[in-house]
Amino acid sequence: MRIIFRITRQNRYSVVALSGAVATKKPHVKIHYAESIDEVTLVSPPAVVAYSFMSFDLPWIEHEVKTLSKMGYTLIAGGAHATARPEECLSLGFNHVFIGDGEENILRFIDGERLRVFDGLEKRVNLDDYPPFNPVHNMYMPIEISRGCPFNCSYCETPLIAGKKVRHRSIDSVVYYAKIGLKNGKRVARFISPNAFAYGSENGITPNVEFIELLLFQLKKLNMREIYFGTFPSDVRPESVTQDVLKVLRKYVKNRHITIGAQSGSNAILRKIKRGHTVETINQAVEVILENGFIPVLDFIFGFPFETDEDIERTLFLINRLVKQGAKIHAHTFMPLPGTELENAGAGDVSKDLRRALSRLASTGHLNGFWEKQRLLAKQLAKH
Ligand code: SF4
Repeated sequence: MRIIFRITRQNRYSVVALSGAVATKKPHVKIHYAESIDEVTLVSPPAVVAYSFMSFDLPWIEHEVKTLSKMGYTLIAGGAHATARPEECLSLGFNHVFIGDGEENILRFIDGERLRVFDGLEKRVNLDDYPPFNPVHNMYMPIEISRGCPFNCSYCETPLIAGKKVRHRSIDSVVYYAKIGLKNGKRVARFISPNAFAYGSENGITPNVEFIELLLFQLKKLNMREIYFGTFPSDVRPESVTQDVLKVLRKYVKNRHITIGAQSGSNAILRKIKRGHTVETINQAVEVILENGFIPVLDFIFGFPFETDEDIERTLFLINRLVKQGAKIHAHTFMPLPGTELENAGAGDVSKDLRRALSRLASTGHLNGFWEKQRLLAKQLAKH
């Protein structure tokens, strides 16, 4: 069998993890990578083309699927959009759809199983059973240490795609792959997790400080040049920020920033979007981060359709205060993602006045983010 993984700007992490599962477990499969449809067609059919994509990729995905299925390729889809809308993907022309965790199901597909929809929601994988990247093809990325989230934020696809039960990669497995990375010159450790400070935690919320320290200690012992924890590409929940975790981090990590999901300065909005914490929790987390010498970076989402002028004022008030304390802000526009509770809530938008306020903060270097681009994507999603 030949599989062509279609690489896009957004799906590199999933391609590297899935191709790693295939390359290590099914070495007879010939794997190709394509960054454009032209590169796909360099491998002539019959071949399988694997897509993992987000809902806003649909316009160009539709075009490629039409073209490639006429040419005789077998097309398979996974990722966020396929998990939320499997039937729609089949009617677009995909032959098979993979929902939820993909590693085990793609191996079953290679073994000859043919289902229209491969279900990776019910049967979740054990992260230790699969490599976090693709050492066979020398493709590396941050190591996924946890998958799944016990929260239910109404705008977020993670609980659907990754499940509500948090699964952790063992320390032994992380260290094993970190060593492989090191042998290949990867001397910087970064991690993927919906809440890095919940690594090793039973409930996915309360930090398991000993476990985090053991992980960081083991990595340091390997002579890893730089360790980044609680920052890009991971977020941290504000209630998981504690003195104990930050004291441990100070001993091992290179990052100066800790990124936390705040999302709003209005308790009314936090309740409506089911964040499960309050503005006070955000303030406490920021205090603890600053006391320990780190710079807090906070994500905020604007443009929920039910957001009032008063909610916006409260959020801007909080942002301005946080900036004075030394925090940095990431601003986002709400996007109605399929499979979330708010998928039919309409496009998020950001008023002219608010855009001006955000641009002012951006011009002083205190704020960044893709809120402008996300306004357009939100409109595109709402029309779909
Ligand atoms: S936004 Fe974060 S905490 Fe909320 S459901 Fe998504 S991953 Fe979990």
